[in-house]
Amino acid sequence: MAGAPHPHGRPSHTGPAETLDTQVIVVGAGPVGLLLAGELALRGIQVTLVERRHGPTTESRASTLHARTMELLDSRGLLADLGSPPCEPRGHFGGIPLDLTLPGPYPGQWKVPQTRTEAILEEWALGLGADLRCGHTLHAVRDHGSHVEAAATSRHGTRVTLRAAHLVACDGQDSTVRRLTGADFPGTPAARELLRADVEGVDIQNRRFERLPGGLAVAARNRAGVTRVMVHEFGTAVRERAGAPHFDEMAAAWKRVTGQDITGATPLWVGHFDDENRILARYRHGRVLFAGDAAHRQMPIGGQALNLGLQDAYNLGWKLAAAVDGTAPAHLLDTYDTERAAVGAAVLGNIRAQALLLLGGPEVEGLRTVLAELVAHEEVRAPLAAMISGLDVRYDVGGPEHPLRGARLPHMRLRVGETVCTTAELLRSGRGLLLGLGAPPPRLDATAAGRVDTVTAHPAPGSPPERTPALLVRPDGHVVWAGGRDGNGLAEAAGRWFGIA
Ligand SMILES: Cc1cc2nc3c(=O)[nH]c(=O)nc-3n(C[C@H](O)[C@H](O)[C@H](O)COP(=O)(O)OP(=O)(O)OC[C@H]3O[C@@H](n4cnc5c(N)ncnc54)[C@H](O)[C@@H]3O)c2cc1C
Repeated sequence: MAGAPHPHGRPSHTGPAETLDTQVIVVGAGPVGLLLAGELALRGIQVTLVERRHGPTTESRASTLHARTMELLDSRGLLADLGSPPCEPRGHFGGIPLDLTLPGPYPGQWKVPQTRTEAILEEWALGLGADLRCGHTLHAVRDHGSHVEAAATSRHGTRVTLRAAHLVACDGQDSTVRRLTGADFPGTPAARELLRADVEGVDIQNRRFERLPGGLAVAARNRAGVTRVMVHEFGTAVRERAGAPHFDEMAAAWKRVTGQDITGATPLWVGHFDDENRILARYRHGRVLFAGDAAHRQMPIGGQALNLGLQDAYNLGWKLAAAVDGTAPAHLLDTYDTERAAVGAAVLGNIRAQALLLLGGPEVEGLRTVLAELVAHEEVRAPLAAMISGLDVRYDVGGPEHPLRGARLPHMRLRVGETVCTTAELLRSGRGLLLGLGAPPPRLDATAAGRVDTVTAHPAPGSPPERTPALLVRPDGHVVWAGGRDGNGLAEAAGRWFGIA
């Protein structure tokens, strides 16, 4: 990363000053920053969140949680707080209907407003001890090699200097940290844009990705009577904008595409987004790391942007905590970059494909027809559904081939002693898991005690038996070793992922 704080954007300062020492600075208390802060605090790490906003966001953003995100929230005991959100088993790929039904506890699209997800994550992270500094804008970062130093200014003019072992940029798509560090952010510029508004006081029919002769129209009314409308006119270029579009522009485009007049509606929020597609060349720059929209910029299509970011934070949290408390084996933190950059590149690829299918003009009709026919075949539907849901992620964790190695721990109902529980519940401590199925697992070194929970479980009544006798699972639910009672290869896997000899 660039060594010196960047001169641009640094406010002149004459007010009071404060210095704060912490272990990890997280810039941005959006959903990704909040989940990461909670993951760190869960493991006893001192974490300070620096957030520019001084109140909750008023923007209407993501509304979908996918299956893998639901699983990770379950593994932290946060699902009950969501209540009973509506679930739609049907999603889409570039507007082509796609059944998301897959094995697992939470298939489908769970309709949760992003504001609700953020509120739950904030309460959880703060309850675990994370320190949230709202109304603070970060404007300088410096990696000293031994530690990182950052500067923020509060809305009252206090300049705060923060020092920590690491800083994680979760500051969204226009990331200040990315700009300050000059991190390479290659990709493709925006070529198409969608206008979007949340409106009240209008009675129009729902439209599910309707491709009309002049463009694409979407209308979805929620339970509160608010209708989200989105429109794109085929062949129109992206406009230079200084701020949000005016509702008149949106209504005029809607009229041209659908013939409907919505000028009488009350706009609650108007925005736009485009298909700019970029991903950081590296997610780790020394002691500075990036997660969520700060690391990848994509069209928020199919509800993948938010889910991808939350899964970044889940992958990073336990690794960074181990690096800070000195228990991380060599290169553990680097695996965040290799694992999540690969997943990010794959997701951004499918988003590019979807943007083309959805917003391309008549020239993409043939392709859409072929794909719609292919999706009717299970061999095509299931992998696409797994890709959209985040269930296809499999990391390269080393060791001999095994169907579970690198994949997420499958959902199982188990009996542990007299208690019936699920595999997600076994991950709630935030530690690794050495799971013996049907009999105690092979033994690990005594240092494992603080890092890995050892559990012997049996299939719960009515559940199928699991054929693999023992599994070693990372705190983010990915299996790193699967084997027999002889424990062949277990010590190597434990050393590689947990620093246990
Ligand atoms: C208009 C819009 C609509 C969207 N719609 C959808 C959708 O329908 N589906 C979907 O999946 N995704 C959607 N997204 C994307 C989704 O909202 C993001 O993927 C998600 O919010 C990313 O979370 P994040 O925590 O990485 O970043 P953000 O949510 O952007 O959070 C970043 C935080 O950092 C703070 N910050 C920024 N700079 C600084 C600084 N210098 N100092 C201190 N704090 C700072 C910001 O105030 C903000 O709170 C949409 C995004 C936008 C902008």
